[in-house]
Amino acid sequence: MLVCIVIARPIHLKNIPAYKINNRITNFPNAKPLPRIAIAGLGIESSTFSPALTNEEAFHAKYGAAIFSSYPFLSVDSPLRNKADWIPILIGKSLPGGAVTREAYESLVNKTLDSLKKHTPYNGLYFDIHGAMSVVGMEDAEGDFITRIRKVIGNETLISTSMDLHGNVSWRLAENTDLITCYRMAPHEDAMETKQRAVKNLLDRIENGKGKPAYKAWIPIPILLPGEKTSTRIEPAKTVYQAVAPASLQQGIIDAAIWIGYAWADEPRNHAVVMVTGDDKEKVVSTAQQLAQRFWDARSGYSFVAPTGTLNECLQKALASTKHPFFISDSGDNPTAGGAGDVTWTLKEILSRNEFKSANGPSLIYASIPGPDLIKNAITAKVGGQVKGYAGAAVDARYAPPLLISGTVESIEYGDVNAAIEAVIRVGSVHIIVTQKRKPYHKEIDFTRLGLNPRKSDIVVVKIGYLEPELYAMRADWLLALTPGGVDQNLERLPYKRIQRPMFPLDKNMKEPDFSARMVPSLK
Ligand SMILES: [Zn+2]
Repeated sequence: MLVCIVIARPIHLKNIPAYKINNRITNFPNAKPLPRIAIAGLGIESSTFSPALTNEEAFHAKYGAAIFSSYPFLSVDSPLRNKADWIPILIGKSLPGGAVTREAYESLVNKTLDSLKKHTPYNGLYFDIHGAMSVVGMEDAEGDFITRIRKVIGNETLISTSMDLHGNVSWRLAENTDLITCYRMAPHEDAMETKQRAVKNLLDRIENGKGKPAYKAWIPIPILLPGEKTSTRIEPAKTVYQAVAPASLQQGIIDAAIWIGYAWADEPRNHAVVMVTGDDKEKVVSTAQQLAQRFWDARSGYSFVAPTGTLNECLQKALASTKHPFFISDSGDNPTAGGAGDVTWTLKEILSRNEFKSANGPSLIYASIPGPDLIKNAITAKVGGQVKGYAGAAVDARYAPPLLISGTVESIEYGDVNAAIEAVIRVGSVHIIVTQKRKPYHKEIDFTRLGLNPRKSDIVVVKIGYLEPELYAMRADWLLALTPGGVDQNLERLPYKRIQRPMFPLDKNMKEPDFSARMVPSLK
C-alpha cells in the first residue's frame, strides 16, 4: 500500500492544479483557491501651511515581499497570512511634512498601478493610507488614488481601507472603498490593531461570501480641531472614542469610525467625519448618527491636552518648578504633524536667555534642529572640540533666520534612518541635538543613544505636540508652548480659504448641523 502511494504520487502532482500559498505549493485535490488580495497605499500628513515640499524618497517605498515586514500580523505562518494569496504591491510612509510634489505623487501612484496591472485579477485590496496627503496642484489626493486603482482592479474587487483618525474621508473615497476604518486612539497606540482589523474584515467578507457591505453611512461634522485638543487619553475625546468599539461589535455592523480630520490643509474635505458600514440599515444609520451627534455635542470641551502658554511663560514655569524633567512641546513646528521641523525661533529664544548662558545653569535638552553644515563642522571638530556654524531655517525661515550655533561637540552618532547623522552640541547649559536630516524625538533611546539623559535633565524641549507615550511616562511636568510654525496650534491664526464654512471653532454661533446619515452607494 505504501509503495502504491509512493509510485502514484508523481501522477497526482502532474494532474492536480497546484495552489500557491505564500510561495509554498500545496496540493489538495479539493482545495479551494485562496483569495487573491493586493496590498497598496501611501501614508503622510502634509501641511499646506508649511513651505516645505515632500519628495518621493521621503516615502521609503517598499515593494513586493518586503511589504510583509510592515505588518507583524502577516508574518510567515501567521493565521491571516495563510488565509490568502497575498500580492504586496507598494506601500510608502513618510514623516509628516509639506505638500507632496506632483512628480513624487505621480511616480508612486503609477508604480502602484503598473504593478497592480501585472497581477490582476484580485478578490480584495487592502488600502493602507493615512488620509491627509496634500499634493501640489491637486485636491483630495487619496480620492484620486483610489479612483485610479479602481480603474485597474474594477468595481467588483473588495477594497478595505485603514486610516489615521487625522485623515480626511471625502465622499469620493467613501464611494470607492467598500470597508473603511481608522484608529481609535490618539496617540495612536492601536495603529497596528487597526490595520489588522481592516485586513480581517476584508478576509471575513470574502470568506463568508457576503462581499460588499449592504450599507455605508457617511456623516460630515463641521469641526476642525488640532490633534492636541483631541487626545483620547482625556475627556471629552476619551468618552466619544470609547463608544466606537462597542458600536462596531453590534450585530449587523462591520465597522464604525470617527475621523477628527487634519487641520493644517486648506481643502473642502478637511473636517471631522463618521462612517459606519454593515448589513443592517437601521443599525448602520442610527449608530452613525449617534456617534456624530456625540462628537458634536462634546465640541466645547475639546481643549489642549496639556496646559499651554507662550514660550516665555512655559520657560518661566519650568525654571521655577521643582518637578524635573519638565517637558515643553515646541508645538508650532512639530515635524510629526507636518511642520518643516527646522524653525529656529524657539531655540533662538532659549539661547538668548541669561539663565542658560553658563555651563552651570539649569540643564536643557533641545530636540532638535537640522543643520547639515554644522554636522560637517562637528565631524571635523570631533567629540570634545569646539564647533561653530549655522543650523535650521533652510525650509521655513518665516519666523527666524538660520541660527549661528557655537559650542562644544558632546557626541556624534551615525546611521539613524531619519536623521542619518546626529550631533549633540553644548552651548552654555543647553544641549542641542543637531541632525543632518530632520527627525522626530519620541523615544527615550533617541536621547540616550546620543549620551543624553533626559530623566536627569531639568528641562527637555521637543518639537512635538502631545507627548508620545515614552516621553509622557517620563515627564515630571509638561507644558505645550504655542510657538509659531507650519502647524500652528492656534487655528484661528491660519489663513483658511477653501475649507467649508461655517466650521467650529472658527465660526461662532453655528446652527445645529444636519446629522442625518448620507448613504454612500456601492460601486457596481
Ligand atoms: Zn494621527
